[in-house]
Amino acid sequence: MPAVPSLKMNNGLEIPQLGFGVFLVPPEETRQAVAEALKAGYRLIDTAQGYKNEEGVGAAIAESDVPRDELFITTKLTNSEQGYDTTLTAFDGSMKKLGIDVLDLFLIHWPLPMFDQYVETWRAFEKLLADGRVRSIGVSNFEIAHLERLLAETDVTPAVNQIELHPQFPQEELRAFHDEHGILTESWGPLGQGKGLLEDPSIVEVAQRKARTPAQVVLRWHLQLGCVVIPKSANPDRMRENIDLFDFELDDADMAEISKVRTGERLGGDPNVFAMR
Ligand code: NAD
Repeated sequence: MPAVPSLKMNNGLEIPQLGFGVFLVPPEETRQAVAEALKAGYRLIDTAQGYKNEEGVGAAIAESDVPRDELFITTKLTNSEQGYDTTLTAFDGSMKKLGIDVLDLFLIHWPLPMFDQYVETWRAFEKLLADGRVRSIGVSNFEIAHLERLLAETDVTPAVNQIELHPQFPQEELRAFHDEHGILTESWGPLGQGKGLLEDPSIVEVAQRKARTPAQVVLRWHLQLGCVVIPKSANPDRMRENIDLFDFELDDADMAEISKVRTGERLGGDPNVFAMR
């Protein structure tokens, strides 16, 4: 089983560099999918209140013989629960569903700047951290302006910002800001969400050069940028393919070929205007 390396966060704790995301895994299939992922060697599981499948993640954790201290469980505060008290209540709900005492990483799912609650929400995250209920706190889909406000107005620097990131949308500026402030970049939609990235001729060419699959080449690109990456697949063969990344490297020519697919276009919502809650 491949050993996944860890990265150190700004609080001194470690996070596996590769994890398993469960966005759009139906609730009734989540337990089985997570069990398969644990069997394949994944130790980081990325869920969210909004995915409605935290119970399935919890069931798989409870049934697994992987010791709890080897697992890294992430969930995210759903948009409708931003605010101080609502965050604390929603956190309790997640912990019940996940069936664990302490969460590894809690993220604000979207900044929702139009509602102006993320600073107050972050203060509740700081309380959960101070109370020992969560080991690390972070954000998701935050842009530089949103991060700057947290840095200026609150005490704890986010450990992680989980953002849309793939070779078509490589987020150079935001990643540079993260590096400057010790925030780890976690890539969502890393494979381009099955929307054509893996068929791009540049990706296919590098895959042929390396005798690897397009998905492996793209995931390796994320690892070599220093990101944490959380691909999703409900298919056990693909789960194994997506973790089998630690015995090859992309060279400068491969990275340059991959950079040709850049479009600068997002697949998902723009965090400045995304307002769903
Ligand atoms: P992804 O880029 O991981 O794409 C998943 C799709 O890629 C699968 O449905 C499948 O069609 C395809 N795929 C997977 N492995 C493959 C392989 N080896 N070969 C060919 N095709 C393959 O997209 P995602 O699921 O949106 O993102 C991954 C995770 O990121 C999610 O499950 C979730 O945990 C997280 N996420 C977070 C946010 C956020 O707002 N924070 C948003 C979207 C996703």
